[in-house]
Amino acid sequence: MIRLFSYRTLPCINFLTHCRKSNAWICFSQRYFSAQVAQLTQQCTTCMELPSSEFNSHAYATMLQDCIQNGDPTSGKALHSEILKRGGCLDLFGYNILLNMYVKSELLCDAIKLFDELPERNTISFVTLIQGYAQSLRFVEGVELFSRLHREGHELNPFVFSAILKLLVSMGWGELGWTLHACVCKLGHHSNAFVGTALIDAYSVCGQVDNASEIFDGIVCKDMVSWTGMVACYSENDCFEEALGAFSQMRIIGFKPNNFTLAGVLKACLGLEAFSAAKGVHGCALKTRYEQDLYVGVALLELYTKSGDIDDAQQAFEEIPKKDVIPWSFMIARYAQSDRCEEAVELFCQMRQAFVVPNQFTFASLLQACATMKGLDLGKQIHSHVLKVGLNSDGFVYNALMDVYAKCLRMEDSMDLFLESPNRNDVTWNTMIVGYVQSGDGEKALKLFLDMLEYQVCATEVTYSSVLRACASLAAMDLGVQIHSLTVKTIYNKNIVVGNALIDMYAKCGSIKDARTIFDTLNERDEVSWNAMISGYSTHGLGREALKFFEMMQDMKCKPNKLTFVGVLSACSNAGLLDQGQAYFNSMVQDYGIEPCIEHYTCLVWLLGRSGHLDKAFKLIKEIPFEPSVMVWRALLGACVIHNDVELGRISAQRVFEMEPQDEATHVLLSNIYATARRWGNVASVRKNMNRKGVKKEPGLSWIENQGIVHYFTVGDTSHPEMKLINGMLESLKMKTRKAGYVPNHNAVLVDVDDDEKEHLLWVHSERLALAYGLIKMPSGSPIRIIKNLRICVDCHAAMKLISKVVQRDIIIRDMNRFHHFKDGVCCCGDYW
Ligand SMILES: [Zn+2]
Ligand SMILES: [Zn+2]
Repeated sequence: MIRLFSYRTLPCINFLTHCRKSNAWICFSQRYFSAQVAQLTQQCTTCMELPSSEFNSHAYATMLQDCIQNGDPTSGKALHSEILKRGGCLDLFGYNILLNMYVKSELLCDAIKLFDELPERNTISFVTLIQGYAQSLRFVEGVELFSRLHREGHELNPFVFSAILKLLVSMGWGELGWTLHACVCKLGHHSNAFVGTALIDAYSVCGQVDNASEIFDGIVCKDMVSWTGMVACYSENDCFEEALGAFSQMRIIGFKPNNFTLAGVLKACLGLEAFSAAKGVHGCALKTRYEQDLYVGVALLELYTKSGDIDDAQQAFEEIPKKDVIPWSFMIARYAQSDRCEEAVELFCQMRQAFVVPNQFTFASLLQACATMKGLDLGKQIHSHVLKVGLNSDGFVYNALMDVYAKCLRMEDSMDLFLESPNRNDVTWNTMIVGYVQSGDGEKALKLFLDMLEYQVCATEVTYSSVLRACASLAAMDLGVQIHSLTVKTIYNKNIVVGNALIDMYAKCGSIKDARTIFDTLNERDEVSWNAMISGYSTHGLGREALKFFEMMQDMKCKPNKLTFVGVLSACSNAGLLDQGQAYFNSMVQDYGIEPCIEHYTCLVWLLGRSGHLDKAFKLIKEIPFEPSVMVWRALLGACVIHNDVELGRISAQRVFEMEPQDEATHVLLSNIYATARRWGNVASVRKNMNRKGVKKEPGLSWIENQGIVHYFTVGDTSHPEMKLINGMLESLKMKTRKAGYVPNHNAVLVDVDDDEKEHLLWVHSERLALAYGLIKMPSGSPIRIIKNLRICVDCHAAMKLISKVVQRDIIIRDMNRFHHFKDGVCCCGDYW
């Protein structure tokens, strides 16, 4: 802010305005032309016509000064040519005003030319041109001119120091203020308000608050500008209380704040989250009419958006009369960040209608909104707009564009941009990694992460948390452990975002114990950490542990949110805790004021259904105030399967088919209900329907990780290089389970084949292939972890229970709903899933 502030103030807070505001300065300024101009303006108000025959340098000077004040360079130039035509010669004072006219009109080339042709020059001529250079961002030439001034022996007065210090601040070389400080002290200018304030600015940008405050104390006659400089210095350097202290002292002494003071104080209030004090400052701004000022306006926008009131922010925005790109971009960014993306886009259109030219920050925020809305078409339009205005090489815009394509699941387009990227930074890499994780391609995300390490780009919390989520989705625990150790080395494991991702990773990879260890060692915990543990325990079938954690969470005064209750209710439904589940549901609505969403209803329907209250479950669905989703009906169908309720099962399946006619799992469940009721005609018609509708089986896919490599198996897969060994293991398992009493459940097969073939088809279900591979490869005694993309079927579930007993191994299978821990012939789900 201060840099922006200094850069923007260069043209407007020049020494003229400063002198006008400073009482202490009047004595000083009288030696300089601002005072002379003031005198002249008084003298010459009557002689505004062209000077008569005699050449009058002072009269010309006055008219040129008018041109500056009226912002009228054309008349200024006309006067200049008139002077040349008359062959007259201005005095040095007049020439300096002419020079100032060119500088103020931003005609730097003319100013330089005039400067070179001047018959004589003094300090004022130099300072005027230095300001011109600063204004046109030609800083180095400004500094060179300062050296020349010094070399040629012109007076080093406070104007010179102020101009050069401001130049250094604009160049980002505030540290060099130190060297000038010595010179200032030698010449005795350090107690001067004008130079002192410039020094405060210089020390402020390089964070040397103590030096700044020492200089401030040394200023003999502090004026409003120096007070403002100090307030800004404190608030820019996060010394918010000091900033407010200085502000109140300044008010006690009787100085009226200006726009920069108010902006600084607002920033300090924001830093202290003192929102009511900030509203007082807003009142002060209203009284002084500074609320229409750009700086104050933007500070107010920031205040109201941070305090969470975007509508107040919108009002503050509307009150700024002449908005440049900064407030527009600011509001667009805030809308984009508060998930009000359509308003962000709308505001961008208004901004275009107001002929305000967008900059890189505008585009970055707009693209962020577009990415959140997953608006591919809009994204493409903005992309071409960006190309037209040539901002496509800007890092912010570039990363935001990649993000749009990634969020719209156009990973290839995003990758193209990534490969073309002129300078990839950590954000560029993270955008791609996050994109792959979100589009469900964990392997590519992990591959890219390895590339990132190879290119020696430092991974951040975003990188670690994303790759850990990739490991969680793949259940790639070996890799997850390696990444965990990387985070320990980079001490990112103490970061709460990474810590939460670690909990999630261990829980989803089937090791709830490790998840708990991470949770216990976190320095701080937020609701995400608690939610991860609660839902972790719930999917592992440890309902009571999950509820214990929920109670602990409340004891720790951590406020539960929507997701917490999804975890709590699913814990109750996974463990069959009917009364508690209902009580939590009611408490969620009554005590926490959380509107139940479809996930909450689904849990409750499943809980009621599996406990045998099918009618109550059906009634609850009818009471849902919005359209019930497929998930709810599927839950009821699942419960009907357990309790053999053919009629309600048929209704539920019907509702699912209305929404997803191609859903294979539902066909299978419906057919299972009919088969259990021995209604073979219905079984046949379900099968016929499936054929007629061309229901495509979503291929069952299971995977298992061995030494960092993930092995995939589809149903009936024969492509694995070690297929012979796997088949051998399957045969041996088949024999052992038969002996232990396994009877294949032929109802689980919907194809019209004889029973032997049905049994064969069951034994090539993907999870059994993965299990066989695991039993061959994993060291004896270690648990076998398998992930499956669909729900585990009844027959596999029964087989797995027996296998866990006959081979004495823990088998952990994560299906699309939850974990099944098979141990000693039982599963933690209690056969409800
Ligand atoms: Zn199966
Ligand atoms: Zn189970």
